[in-house]
Amino acid sequence: MSYLKKNIIIIGAGPAALSMSSTLLMANVDHIILEKSEKPGGQLTEIHNEPEDFIIGLYKNGLELTKKINNFSNKYQFPIKFHSKVTGIDIHTKTINYIHRGIEKHINYDYVIIATGSRFNIDKKSIDRRFSKDIYYRISYNLNDFSNKKVAVIGNGDNATIAALRLIDYASEIYLVNKSDRWKSRKDLVDNVINHPKIIVLNHKILIELNGDTNLKSIEIKDINTGDKNSIKIDKIVYKIGYLPNSEFIPQEIDMDEKGYIKVTERYKTSAPNIFAIGDIVSSAYKRISIALGHGTELGNFFLKELLE
Ligand SMILES: Cc1cc2nc3c(=O)[nH]c(=O)nc-3n(C[C@H](O)[C@H](O)[C@H](O)COP(=O)(O)OP(=O)(O)OC[C@H]3O[C@@H](n4cnc5c(N)ncnc54)[C@H](O)[C@@H]3O)c2cc1C
Repeated sequence: MSYLKKNIIIIGAGPAALSMSSTLLMANVDHIILEKSEKPGGQLTEIHNEPEDFIIGLYKNGLELTKKINNFSNKYQFPIKFHSKVTGIDIHTKTINYIHRGIEKHINYDYVIIATGSRFNIDKKSIDRRFSKDIYYRISYNLNDFSNKKVAVIGNGDNATIAALRLIDYASEIYLVNKSDRWKSRKDLVDNVINHPKIIVLNHKILIELNGDTNLKSIEIKDINTGDKNSIKIDKIVYKIGYLPNSEFIPQEIDMDEKGYIKVTERYKTSAPNIFAIGDIVSSAYKRISIALGHGTELGNFFLKELLE
């Protein structure tokens, strides 16, 4: 039976949120999780390879991990309200606005925990329907599509270098298009990329146009220093241009960084009273399952030990 009567609302049902929820459940603390989709797990369902940096067992992919979360959820009954997309927070009236199956709803809060994570950054040019079958944001589950193809990988972070290296056994040529000559990726991966004969690194270049008829045939790239344009024959593009925060609904009273991630101080506090943020949505957080889980457990523990009477 619940003995604490505070309106604690967690937004999102990814690893960060569920980890906090499980800590609160242990102590029978009432709370509600608002999740816009119809399932728990957040980005885990998008991991199509064996999750890295996660030593709690070997999992074929993120879907397997999500199944385990479902087992946990069935046993301990996470209080998730699915199909509930949060659209705003009013810090003056202490109200959360959300849409549940097309109907606008409101709920009062004493505490809010924002755990809405991040999503792939989508390039507007990639929305061109003609080329949709030649444009990829994920490659792990369809590597054979790249067999003997000329592929351009766009980006300069770990995801871009890892994608280029993974394609070595499939593609005939790989171009890695980097908008500067600096890298956000790990040095060992960058060294492997630069030294591999199959990978051509194009520094200081940006992609400006996709060309073809019903298939992608070439891309136009521009040198950002000289302005020179160049056309390269390409069959497939892999975008690895980072992530965007799911923070569109956050009110201006909550401080965010220039990319829209939420700034927190100690104990995951935001600049607004009684509002916290955990997981990928936190400014400068390393986007990892273990980090999201750690944030959730730590904040849950803070609630139990210090915040709630
Ligand atoms: C392709 C891919 C591969 C990855 N590989 C690995 C890996 O190998 N190892 C690793 O450790 N990490 C990996 N990650 C990162 C890891 O998945 C994330 O760090 C982790 O899921 C973050 O958890 P989170 O709870 O902060 O956010 P998320 O998992 O993003 O969950 C956020 C939840 O909030 C919900 N939400 C968003 N907006 C709203 C709203 N307005 N209202 C209601 N609900 C909302 C979303 O639907 C989602 O369920 C990978 C991620 C991706 C995309």
